[in-house]
Amino acid sequence: MRILTVRQPWAWAIIHGGKDVENRTRNIAGAYRGPVLIHAAKQYDYTGATPTLSRAQIAAGGATSGATSGRPWMTHLGHVVGVVDLVDVHHASECVFVGDVVEDFDGNFVSQEVSYCSPWAQAENVEHLVLANPRALDEPIPYKGGLGLRKTNFGIAGDWLYEETDRCTCGVGSTIGALYGHEPGCGLEPIARLAATS
Ligand SMILES: [Zn+2]
Ligand SMILES: [Zn+2]
Repeated sequence: MRILTVRQPWAWAIIHGGKDVENRTRNIAGAYRGPVLIHAAKQYDYTGATPTLSRAQIAAGGATSGATSGRPWMTHLGHVVGVVDLVDVHHASECVFVGDVVEDFDGNFVSQEVSYCSPWAQAENVEHLVLANPRALDEPIPYKGGLGLRKTNFGIAGDWLYEETDRCTCGVGSTIGALYGHEPGCGLEPIARLAATS
């Protein structure tokens, strides 16, 4: 499956805060749709995080003070924190809704409603990666950051995240080599348990 590096607090917001759109300047997913590991970058994003994060805080029950123990969106830097399904990619121009112009009694322009597919979706010239079904890892795992939607040896079976290895995990022998005699699923190593967060 694929992996996406996202700076905190956004990685947390995707898995725990209801953030269902990731905004990118280009379609990094191509035609790929399916499960994506969410990896929290080592570097925290301090720029402009607060206004949007407040929505996530509310969704998470309003934790607003204390050290990192009270600010889970500041934790697990450099770790995979969860899995989400990438279900759609579209340009902001495809989901924009522009309401009627509202005028006052003198005919002056007052307001015009403009909205997108999600409160987390940015306007203008960006691609919306639409995310669904967030699941958290019970134990976040360290991983290297990177650009784009990269391939990994991880996969999902039921509510387990596993890694494809070339080691025998069924007890028949030390290497898989010729697969004869190994149990189905040999070489798959359970990594962490996944728990739905919404
Ligand atoms: Zn959209
Ligand atoms: Zn085996």
